Amino acid sequence: MGDTKIYKNFINGRWVESGSGKTFENRNPANTDEVVGVFQKSNADDVEQALSAAAEAYKKWRLVPAPKRGELLFRVASKLWERKEEISRDMTREMGKVIAETRGDTQEAIDMTYYMAGEGRRLFGQTTPSEMPNKFNMTVRQPLGVCSFITPWNFPIAIPAWKTMPALICGNTVVIKPATDTPLSVAHMMEVFEEEGIPAGVVNMVTGSGGTVGTALINDARVRVVSFTGSTEIGRKVSEGCAPNFKHCCLEMGGKNVQIVMDDANLELAVEGALWGAFGTTGQRCTATSRLIIHEKVHDKMIAMLKAQAEKIKVGNGLDETVKMGPCINQGQLDTVLSYIDIGLKGGAELVTGGERLTGGPYDKGFFVKPTIFTGVTQKMRIWREEIFGPVLSVGTFKTFDQAIEMANDTAYGLSAAIYTQDINKAYTAMRDVYTGIFYVNAPTIGAETHLPFGGTKETGNGHREAATAALDVFSEWKSVYVDFSGKIQRAQIDNQ
Ligand code: NAD
Repeated sequence: MGDTKIYKNFINGRWVESGSGKTFENRNPANTDEVVGVFQKSNADDVEQALSAAAEAYKKWRLVPAPKRGELLFRVASKLWERKEEISRDMTREMGKVIAETRGDTQEAIDMTYYMAGEGRRLFGQTTPSEMPNKFNMTVRQPLGVCSFITPWNFPIAIPAWKTMPALICGNTVVIKPATDTPLSVAHMMEVFEEEGIPAGVVNMVTGSGGTVGTALINDARVRVVSFTGSTEIGRKVSEGCAPNFKHCCLEMGGKNVQIVMDDANLELAVEGALWGAFGTTGQRCTATSRLIIHEKVHDKMIAMLKAQAEKIKVGNGLDETVKMGPCINQGQLDTVLSYIDIGLKGGAELVTGGERLTGGPYDKGFFVKPTIFTGVTQKMRIWREEIFGPVLSVGTFKTFDQAIEMANDTAYGLSAAIYTQDINKAYTAMRDVYTGIFYVNAPTIGAETHLPFGGTKETGNGHREAATAALDVFSEWKSVYVDFSGKIQRAQIDNQ
């Protein structure tokens, strides 16, 4: 392992080795010779220690005034900002997306931290009149306790921050298990918390597999909230694990997002949007554009434009500022992408460009695949229906607006959708009728901002939203408070008749 740094778990304010005595390597997907770090392969005992620390810390943290918790988050945000370049470069090394995008990922964490820091002076409840004289009614948010987070690799610091910051400002404590492909970004977040003096046990990180660490985090009765972002398949298991003792369970899962292009669209803009939506983050975004449906009148023209532009996308190591698309995250994901390309070809779709792994020179050391576009994709085909999570765009065509809406909704998922049109009536109708959690007009399916709710319908989510003040509803519960200053018993619904 040479000089490779060994990272420990962060439990109760200390960096500690796993009791398992085992570790795992985190390798750069653009160059698998490079070991980015070595991390603890934790076991259920490690989780037990972290949960005990979080449960103990909760007793005091919940009583720290929210504006004070906010002050700490302001300092954390400012430190993340100072360390933005270092964190972003390490993130490109551990997950491959290009440096401009990892800077965006870190910025998203910073934005969320500032946003939630400000909430420390709001956390508004309601005051409302009583039906009785001399009585006062109000609602207050109360924290729940220990929160477990299980996060994916595609937004290595943004997603952990999206969960951690609202949980902390509400007065909860946290144990987080990062994805095994991207533990370094969360380790950096822990370092910042430590540097800014967060009390021991308020945030904890335990690295390791989903099966071992994830399961232990879900099953423990002390945990009151489980927030998970990842695949629908694992999300279903998480939901089942939470059900027996009624834990709050917030799930953000897969997507099969669609961009509709009407015949009056600004085609240059629509092409740019489709390329960024489909191939940004190598297509490994939950909001990635994986279905493009183009009005038949402009279909051929747009495909020619898309092909020309897609073939110019420079693929490579994301630390090179001229590179526009990095590798797939790991061998498994590369294999999945290649198998879906095969499925597309065998299913009768027409390959317009890409369709193969990039090889030769530095490409041989990474998981690179060419930006891939299929046309003639019909609604029955698997590449239309299933989430691929790679740089593969499936294109279909339509004759009427109603048909476009029907096609857009023909999916098990409901995260994000976009329409490109100059017709305001069609834009608003699509906004109303496409059943997703996020909708864009004349903008790609990716590009969420932290002060708007984030999440999806159908198999993408279970009704909760992350980000914005919506996140506070995941990490707090309402308490309704009645203060009677009449000095006598006043019976609701009885004495006021
Ligand atoms: P994944 O479901 O394989 O893993 C997510 C996390 O769950 C990881 O930390 C993993 O270790 C853990 N895990 C695995 N098995 C587990 C188990 N049995 N019990 C508990 N935890 C377990 O997903 P991934 O490959 O890391 O991420 C890609 C998926 O995430 C895609 O489907 C993508 O659409 C989705 N995603 C959704 C959003 C969203 O907000 N909707 C955002 C990003 C990614």
